[in-house]
Amino acid sequence: MNTSQTPVAGASGSRAGMKKELPEHFRSYKHVWVFIEFELGRIHPVSLELLGEGRKLADQLGVELAGVLLGSGEHGLNDATGSCFAYGADLVYLVDHPVLAQYRNQPYTKVMTELVLKYQPEIMLLGATVLGRDLAGSVATTLKTGLTADCTELAIDDERSLAATRPTFGGSLLCTIHTLNYRPQMATIRPRVMAMPKPVEGREGRVVPYTPDLQEDSIVTKVLSFLPDDASEASGLAFADIVVAGGMGLRSEENIQLVRKLAAVLGGDWGGSRPLVQKGWIGADRQIGQTGKTIRPKLYIAAGISGAIQHRVGVEGADMIVAINTDPNAPIFDFAHLGVVADAVTLLPLLTEAFRQRLL
Ligand code: FAD
Repeated sequence: MNTSQTPVAGASGSRAGMKKELPEHFRSYKHVWVFIEFELGRIHPVSLELLGEGRKLADQLGVELAGVLLGSGEHGLNDATGSCFAYGADLVYLVDHPVLAQYRNQPYTKVMTELVLKYQPEIMLLGATVLGRDLAGSVATTLKTGLTADCTELAIDDERSLAATRPTFGGSLLCTIHTLNYRPQMATIRPRVMAMPKPVEGREGRVVPYTPDLQEDSIVTKVLSFLPDDASEASGLAFADIVVAGGMGLRSEENIQLVRKLAAVLGGDWGGSRPLVQKGWIGADRQIGQTGKTIRPKLYIAAGISGAIQHRVGVEGADMIVAINTDPNAPIFDFAHLGVVADAVTLLPLLTEAFRQRLL
Protein backbone atom coordinates (compact mmCIF):
# COMPACT_ATOMS: atom_id res chain seq x y z
CA MET A 1 0.00 0.00 0.00
CA ASN A 2 1.36 3.39 -0.89
CA THR A 3 0.17 6.52 0.78
CA SER A 4 1.11 10.02 -0.23
CA GLN A 5 1.24 12.19 2.79
CA THR A 6 0.10 15.76 2.97
CA PRO A 7 0.88 17.59 6.20
CA VAL A 8 -2.58 16.74 7.48
CA ALA A 9 -3.58 13.30 6.29
CA GLY A 10 -2.60 10.64 3.84
CA ALA A 11 -4.50 9.73 0.69
CA SER A 12 -4.23 6.31 -0.83
CA GLY A 13 -2.81 5.79 -4.28
CA SER A 14 0.27 4.67 -6.10
CA ARG A 15 3.50 6.62 -5.73
CA ALA A 16 3.86 6.92 -9.49
CA GLY A 17 0.40 8.43 -9.87
CA MET A 18 1.29 11.10 -7.32
CA LYS A 19 4.50 12.24 -8.96
CA LYS A 20 4.94 15.98 -8.50
CA GLU A 21 7.90 18.32 -8.67
CA LEU A 22 9.18 19.32 -5.26
CA PRO A 23 8.36 23.05 -4.89
CA GLU A 24 11.32 25.28 -5.76
CA HIS A 25 11.81 26.63 -2.22
CA PHE A 26 12.29 23.11 -0.86
CA ARG A 27 14.93 22.04 -3.39
CA SER A 28 17.78 23.45 -1.31
CA TYR A 29 16.88 21.09 1.56
CA LYS A 30 19.69 18.54 1.97
CA HIS A 31 21.21 16.18 4.52
CA VAL A 32 19.82 13.79 7.09
CA TRP A 33 19.33 14.80 10.70
CA VAL A 34 18.84 12.77 13.83
CA PHE A 35 17.49 14.49 16.92
CA ILE A 36 19.72 13.33 19.78
CA GLU A 37 17.61 12.75 22.87
CA PHE A 38 19.82 13.81 25.75
CA GLU A 39 18.58 13.75 29.32
CA LEU A 40 20.36 13.75 32.67
CA GLY A 41 23.75 13.51 30.99
CA ARG A 42 22.83 10.48 28.90
CA ILE A 43 21.97 9.94 25.23
CA HIS A 44 18.89 7.77 24.80
CA PRO A 45 19.97 4.56 22.96
CA VAL A 46 17.28 5.09 20.31
CA SER A 47 19.20 8.15 19.08
CA LEU A 48 22.29 5.99 18.50
CA GLU A 49 20.18 3.42 16.67
CA LEU A 50 18.84 6.23 14.48
CA LEU A 51 22.34 7.50 13.75
CA GLY A 52 23.04 4.02 12.34
CA GLU A 53 19.91 4.14 10.20
CA GLY A 54 20.48 7.78 9.26
CA ARG A 55 24.02 6.91 8.14
CA LYS A 56 22.62 4.42 5.60
CA LEU A 57 20.11 6.97 4.26
CA ALA A 58 22.73 9.73 4.06
CA ASP A 59 25.18 7.46 2.22
CA GLN A 60 22.49 6.47 -0.24
CA LEU A 61 21.64 10.12 -0.87
CA GLY A 62 25.30 11.18 -0.92
CA VAL A 63 24.72 13.79 1.81
CA GLU A 64 25.90 14.38 5.36
CA LEU A 65 24.45 12.96 8.56
CA ALA A 66 24.00 15.41 11.41
CA GLY A 67 23.11 14.88 15.05
CA VAL A 68 21.12 17.68 16.66
CA LEU A 69 21.98 18.00 20.30
CA LEU A 70 20.17 20.37 22.63
CA GLY A 71 20.79 20.83 26.32
CA SER A 72 22.93 22.60 28.84
CA GLY A 73 26.73 22.23 29.14
CA GLU A 74 26.40 21.75 32.87
CA HIS A 75 25.00 18.30 32.15
CA GLY A 76 27.88 16.90 30.06
CA LEU A 77 26.52 18.02 26.71
CA ASN A 78 29.91 18.47 25.06
CA ASP A 79 30.97 14.89 25.83
CA ALA A 80 27.88 13.63 24.00
CA THR A 81 29.11 15.05 20.68
CA GLY A 82 31.92 12.43 20.64
CA SER A 83 29.33 9.65 20.87
CA CYS A 84 27.43 11.15 17.93
CA PHE A 85 30.56 11.00 15.78
CA ALA A 86 31.41 7.48 16.95
CA TYR A 87 27.95 6.30 15.94
CA GLY A 88 28.10 7.83 12.47
CA ALA A 89 27.38 11.58 12.49
CA ASP A 90 29.50 13.80 10.26
CA LEU A 91 28.55 16.88 12.23
CA VAL A 92 26.62 17.89 15.30
CA TYR A 93 24.47 20.99 15.66
CA LEU A 94 25.11 21.85 19.27
CA VAL A 95 22.71 24.10 21.11
CA ASP A 96 23.91 24.74 24.62
CA HIS A 97 21.63 26.96 26.68
CA PRO A 98 20.53 26.87 30.34
CA VAL A 99 16.84 27.02 29.30
CA LEU A 100 17.35 23.70 27.48
CA ALA A 101 18.76 21.88 30.52
CA GLN A 102 15.59 19.80 30.80
CA TYR A 103 13.17 19.00 28.02
CA ARG A 104 10.23 21.30 27.57
CA ASN A 105 8.20 21.38 24.41
CA GLN A 106 8.14 25.11 23.89
CA PRO A 107 11.87 25.98 23.83
CA TYR A 108 12.84 22.71 22.12
CA THR A 109 10.28 23.25 19.36
CA LYS A 110 11.44 26.82 18.91
CA VAL A 111 15.09 25.83 18.58
CA MET A 112 14.42 22.84 16.32
CA THR A 113 12.27 24.84 13.92
CA GLU A 114 14.85 27.65 13.83
CA LEU A 115 17.59 25.14 13.02
CA VAL A 116 15.52 23.51 10.27
CA LEU A 117 14.75 26.87 8.66
CA LYS A 118 18.41 27.92 8.84
CA TYR A 119 20.16 24.68 7.80
CA GLN A 120 17.38 22.95 5.81
CA PRO A 121 17.61 19.18 6.26
CA GLU A 122 15.69 16.95 3.85
CA ILE A 123 15.08 14.19 6.41
CA MET A 124 14.71 14.40 10.17
CA LEU A 125 14.47 11.32 12.41
CA LEU A 126 13.44 11.23 16.06
CA GLY A 127 12.95 8.39 18.53
CA ALA A 128 9.31 7.47 19.17
CA THR A 129 9.80 7.96 22.90
CA VAL A 130 7.59 10.09 25.11
CA LEU A 131 9.93 13.04 24.50
CA GLY A 132 10.46 12.36 20.79
CA ARG A 133 6.75 11.96 20.04
CA ASP A 134 5.96 15.18 21.87
CA LEU A 135 8.65 17.14 20.04
CA ALA A 136 8.15 15.61 16.58
CA GLY A 137 4.46 16.49 16.48
CA SER A 138 4.94 20.10 17.41
CA VAL A 139 7.96 20.62 15.14
CA ALA A 140 6.09 19.07 12.19
CA THR A 141 2.99 21.18 12.74
CA THR A 142 5.02 24.37 13.26
CA LEU A 143 6.92 23.71 10.02
CA LYS A 144 3.74 22.47 8.29
CA THR A 145 5.46 19.34 7.04
CA GLY A 146 4.66 15.62 7.04
CA LEU A 147 5.50 13.29 9.92
CA THR A 148 5.26 9.50 9.79
CA ALA A 149 5.07 8.07 13.29
CA ASP A 150 6.33 4.70 14.57
CA CYS A 151 8.09 3.60 11.37
CA THR A 152 9.40 0.07 11.13
CA GLU A 153 11.44 0.56 7.96
CA LEU A 154 13.05 3.50 6.17
CA ALA A 155 14.35 3.59 2.61
CA ILE A 156 15.16 6.03 -0.16
CA ASP A 157 13.15 5.53 -3.34
CA ASP A 158 14.47 6.14 -6.84
CA GLU A 159 13.27 9.75 -6.72
CA ARG A 160 15.30 10.51 -3.56
CA SER A 161 12.17 10.55 -1.46
CA LEU A 162 12.02 8.98 2.01
CA ALA A 163 9.83 5.87 1.95
CA ALA A 164 8.68 5.52 5.55
CA THR A 165 6.93 2.23 6.27
CA ARG A 166 4.71 1.65 9.29
CA PRO A 167 1.95 -0.74 10.35
CA THR A 168 -1.62 0.36 9.75
CA PHE A 169 -5.17 -1.00 10.19
CA GLY A 170 -4.28 -2.47 13.58
CA GLY A 171 -1.04 -3.91 12.26
CA SER A 172 -2.64 -6.09 9.61
CA LEU A 173 -1.14 -4.00 6.76
CA LEU A 174 2.05 -2.09 6.20
CA CYS A 175 1.83 1.27 4.45
CA THR A 176 4.67 3.26 2.95
CA ILE A 177 4.29 7.00 3.34
CA HIS A 178 6.02 9.67 1.22
CA THR A 179 6.11 13.36 2.08
CA LEU A 180 6.13 14.56 -1.50
CA ASN A 181 5.72 18.31 -1.36
CA TYR A 182 7.09 19.42 1.97
CA ARG A 183 10.45 19.40 3.72
CA PRO A 184 11.88 18.06 5.89
CA GLN A 185 10.48 14.56 5.67
CA MET A 186 10.01 13.63 9.32
CA ALA A 187 9.74 10.20 10.91
CA THR A 188 9.72 8.74 14.40
CA ILE A 189 11.02 5.24 15.12
CA ARG A 190 10.53 3.29 18.32
CA PRO A 191 13.48 2.09 20.41
CA ARG A 192 14.90 -1.28 19.30
CA VAL A 193 13.24 -1.23 15.89
CA MET A 194 16.56 -0.38 14.23
CA ALA A 195 19.78 -2.23 15.01
CA MET A 196 22.38 -0.56 17.21
CA PRO A 197 25.40 0.35 15.03
CA LYS A 198 28.92 -0.50 16.15
CA PRO A 199 30.66 2.67 17.40
CA VAL A 200 33.95 3.67 15.79
CA GLU A 201 36.01 5.06 18.64
CA GLY A 202 38.04 8.12 17.71
CA ARG A 203 35.86 8.94 14.69
CA GLU A 204 35.72 12.71 14.37
CA GLY A 205 33.32 15.29 13.01
CA ARG A 206 32.42 18.98 13.03
CA VAL A 207 30.57 20.79 15.75
CA VAL A 208 28.30 23.59 14.54
CA PRO A 209 27.24 25.69 17.54
CA TYR A 210 23.96 27.57 17.47
CA THR A 211 22.98 30.24 19.97
CA PRO A 212 19.22 30.64 20.32
CA ASP A 213 17.44 33.62 21.77
CA LEU A 214 15.67 32.02 24.73
CA GLN A 215 14.37 33.75 27.85
CA GLU A 216 13.25 31.68 30.81
CA ASP A 217 10.52 34.24 31.57
CA SER A 218 8.81 33.56 28.25
CA ILE A 219 8.56 29.77 28.81
CA VAL A 220 5.18 28.92 30.30
CA THR A 221 6.11 25.45 31.62
CA LYS A 222 8.46 24.91 34.56
CA VAL A 223 10.03 21.61 35.57
CA LEU A 224 9.26 21.06 39.25
CA SER A 225 10.75 17.58 39.54
CA PHE A 226 11.92 14.82 37.25
CA LEU A 227 10.80 11.21 37.67
CA PRO A 228 12.99 9.09 35.38
CA ASP A 229 11.60 6.16 33.45
CA ASP A 230 13.72 3.82 35.59
CA ALA A 231 10.92 4.19 38.12
CA SER A 232 9.09 1.69 35.94
CA GLU A 233 9.89 -1.88 36.91
CA ALA A 234 10.16 -2.91 33.26
CA SER A 235 12.36 -0.02 32.10
CA GLY A 236 15.13 -2.38 30.95
CA LEU A 237 12.88 -4.80 29.03
CA ALA A 238 13.40 -3.21 25.61
CA PHE A 239 17.16 -3.46 25.98
CA ALA A 240 17.47 -6.87 27.70
CA ASP A 241 19.67 -9.49 26.00
CA ILE A 242 17.40 -12.33 27.09
CA VAL A 243 13.61 -12.04 27.28
CA VAL A 244 11.09 -14.69 28.30
CA ALA A 245 7.44 -13.92 27.59
CA GLY A 246 4.14 -15.64 28.20
CA GLY A 247 0.83 -15.59 26.41
CA MET A 248 -2.70 -16.86 26.92
CA GLY A 249 -1.36 -20.40 26.62
CA LEU A 250 -0.15 -20.02 30.22
CA ARG A 251 -3.84 -20.29 31.16
CA SER A 252 -3.73 -18.49 34.53
CA GLU A 253 -2.25 -15.46 36.24
CA GLU A 254 -0.30 -17.60 38.68
CA ASN A 255 1.56 -19.27 35.82
CA ILE A 256 3.20 -15.93 34.96
CA GLN A 257 5.67 -16.79 37.70
CA LEU A 258 6.92 -19.66 35.48
CA VAL A 259 8.03 -17.07 32.94
CA ARG A 260 9.53 -14.84 35.61
CA LYS A 261 11.49 -17.72 37.14
CA LEU A 262 13.01 -18.80 33.83
CA ALA A 263 13.93 -15.17 33.04
CA ALA A 264 15.56 -14.81 36.46
CA VAL A 265 17.65 -17.97 36.06
CA LEU A 266 18.81 -16.83 32.63
CA GLY A 267 19.60 -13.33 33.91
CA GLY A 268 17.05 -11.85 31.54
CA ASP A 269 13.85 -9.84 31.68
CA TRP A 270 10.25 -10.91 31.13
CA GLY A 271 7.04 -9.76 29.49
CA GLY A 272 3.87 -10.98 27.83
CA SER A 273 1.32 -10.62 25.08
CA ARG A 274 -1.43 -8.01 25.13
CA PRO A 275 -4.30 -10.18 26.39
CA LEU A 276 -2.36 -10.70 29.63
CA VAL A 277 -2.33 -6.94 30.14
CA GLN A 278 -6.01 -6.72 29.29
CA LYS A 279 -6.76 -9.39 31.87
CA GLY A 280 -4.71 -7.50 34.46
CA TRP A 281 -2.26 -10.39 34.87
CA ILE A 282 0.75 -8.22 34.01
CA GLY A 283 1.36 -4.46 33.89
CA ALA A 284 1.13 -2.53 30.63
CA ASP A 285 4.87 -1.81 30.81
CA ARG A 286 5.45 -5.56 30.33
CA GLN A 287 3.50 -5.81 27.08
CA ILE A 288 5.57 -6.77 24.06
CA GLY A 289 4.46 -5.96 20.53
CA GLN A 290 3.12 -3.25 18.32
CA THR A 291 1.32 -1.35 21.07
CA GLY A 292 3.79 -2.42 23.75
CA LYS A 293 7.56 -2.61 23.75
CA THR A 294 9.75 -3.54 20.80
CA ILE A 295 12.54 -5.85 21.88
CA ARG A 296 15.76 -6.96 20.16
CA PRO A 297 17.28 -9.52 22.53
CA LYS A 298 19.87 -12.15 21.66
CA LEU A 299 17.38 -14.76 22.90
CA TYR A 300 13.59 -14.51 23.01
CA ILE A 301 11.56 -17.36 24.50
CA ALA A 302 7.82 -17.11 23.78
CA ALA A 303 5.68 -19.49 25.84
CA GLY A 304 2.04 -19.98 24.90
CA ILE A 305 2.02 -17.06 22.46
CA SER A 306 0.28 -17.53 19.12
CA GLY A 307 2.49 -15.10 17.16
CA ALA A 308 -0.15 -12.66 15.91
CA ILE A 309 1.24 -9.95 13.62
CA GLN A 310 0.92 -7.31 16.37
CA HIS A 311 3.15 -9.43 18.59
CA ARG A 312 5.51 -10.42 15.80
CA VAL A 313 6.44 -6.83 14.85
CA GLY A 314 7.71 -6.29 18.38
CA VAL A 315 9.98 -9.32 18.52
CA GLU A 316 11.20 -10.18 15.05
CA GLY A 317 14.44 -8.25 15.57
CA ALA A 318 15.55 -10.88 18.13
CA ASP A 319 18.62 -12.90 17.11
CA MET A 320 17.07 -16.19 18.27
CA ILE A 321 13.36 -16.82 18.81
CA VAL A 322 12.36 -19.98 20.64
CA ALA A 323 8.62 -20.70 20.64
CA ILE A 324 6.80 -23.13 22.91
CA ASN A 325 3.26 -23.85 21.77
CA THR A 326 0.91 -26.84 21.85
CA ASP A 327 -0.42 -26.06 18.37
CA PRO A 328 2.04 -27.12 15.64
CA ASN A 329 0.23 -24.75 13.24
CA ALA A 330 0.57 -21.68 15.47
CA PRO A 331 1.75 -18.65 13.42
CA ILE A 332 4.71 -18.15 15.76
CA PHE A 333 6.35 -21.22 14.22
CA ASP A 334 6.48 -19.32 10.90
CA PHE A 335 9.10 -16.94 12.25
CA ALA A 336 10.61 -18.72 15.29
CA HIS A 337 14.13 -20.05 14.80
CA LEU A 338 13.40 -22.96 17.11
CA GLY A 339 9.95 -24.34 17.78
CA VAL A 340 8.93 -26.71 20.56
CA VAL A 341 5.45 -28.27 20.36
CA ALA A 342 4.77 -28.72 24.05
CA ASP A 343 2.73 -27.59 27.02
CA ALA A 344 4.49 -24.45 28.27
CA VAL A 345 3.15 -24.91 31.80
CA THR A 346 4.97 -28.24 32.01
CA LEU A 347 8.07 -27.29 30.03
CA LEU A 348 8.92 -23.92 31.64
CA PRO A 349 9.71 -25.33 35.12
CA LEU A 350 11.79 -28.11 33.53
CA LEU A 351 13.78 -25.57 31.52
CA THR A 352 14.22 -23.38 34.60
CA GLU A 353 15.57 -26.28 36.61
CA ALA A 354 17.83 -27.49 33.79
CA PHE A 355 19.35 -24.01 33.32
CA ARG A 356 19.64 -23.51 37.08
CA GLN A 357 21.69 -26.71 37.39
CA ARG A 358 23.81 -25.84 34.38
CA LEU A 359 24.48 -22.27 35.48
CA LEU A 360 25.27 -23.15 39.10
P1 FAD B 1 -3.83 -16.35 21.89
O1 FAD B 1 -4.02 -15.76 20.54
O2 FAD B 1 -5.06 -16.78 22.63
O3 FAD B 1 -2.85 -17.56 21.72
C1 FAD B 1 -2.52 -18.46 22.74
C2 FAD B 1 -1.57 -19.46 22.16
O4 FAD B 1 -1.15 -20.35 23.18
C3 FAD B 1 -2.17 -20.31 21.05
O5 FAD B 1 -1.29 -20.31 19.94
C4 FAD B 1 -2.28 -21.71 21.65
O6 FAD B 1 -2.04 -22.72 20.70
C5 FAD B 1 -1.17 -21.68 22.67
N1 FAD B 1 -1.36 -22.56 23.81
C6 FAD B 1 -2.53 -22.89 24.46
N2 FAD B 1 -2.26 -23.66 25.53
C7 FAD B 1 -0.93 -23.81 25.57
C8 FAD B 1 -0.05 -24.48 26.45
N3 FAD B 1 -0.51 -25.14 27.53
N4 FAD B 1 1.28 -24.42 26.20
C9 FAD B 1 1.75 -23.79 25.11
N5 FAD B 1 0.97 -23.11 24.25
C10 FAD B 1 -0.35 -23.14 24.48
N6 FAD B 1 -0.69 -8.42 20.97
C11 FAD B 1 0.52 -8.38 21.55
O7 FAD B 1 1.03 -9.41 22.03
N7 FAD B 1 1.21 -7.21 21.63
C12 FAD B 1 0.73 -6.06 21.12
O8 FAD B 1 1.41 -5.01 21.22
C13 FAD B 1 -0.54 -6.07 20.49
N8 FAD B 1 -1.05 -4.95 19.96
C14 FAD B 1 -2.25 -5.02 19.32
C15 FAD B 1 -2.75 -3.87 18.71
C16 FAD B 1 -3.96 -3.91 18.06
C17 FAD B 1 -4.46 -2.67 17.41
C18 FAD B 1 -4.69 -5.12 18.00
C19 FAD B 1 -5.99 -5.18 17.28
C20 FAD B 1 -4.20 -6.25 18.61
C21 FAD B 1 -2.99 -6.22 19.28
N9 FAD B 1 -2.49 -7.34 19.91
C22 FAD B 1 -1.25 -7.30 20.47
C23 FAD B 1 -3.29 -8.59 20.07
C24 FAD B 1 -2.93 -9.62 19.05
O9 FAD B 1 -3.70 -9.45 17.87
C25 FAD B 1 -3.24 -11.04 19.61
O10 FAD B 1 -4.60 -11.09 19.96
C26 FAD B 1 -2.41 -11.41 20.82
O11 FAD B 1 -1.03 -11.23 20.53
C27 FAD B 1 -2.66 -12.87 21.16
O12 FAD B 1 -2.05 -13.16 22.38
P2 FAD B 1 -1.66 -14.64 22.74
O13 FAD B 1 -0.84 -15.21 21.64
O14 FAD B 1 -1.09 -14.62 24.11
O15 FAD B 1 -3.07 -15.34 22.86
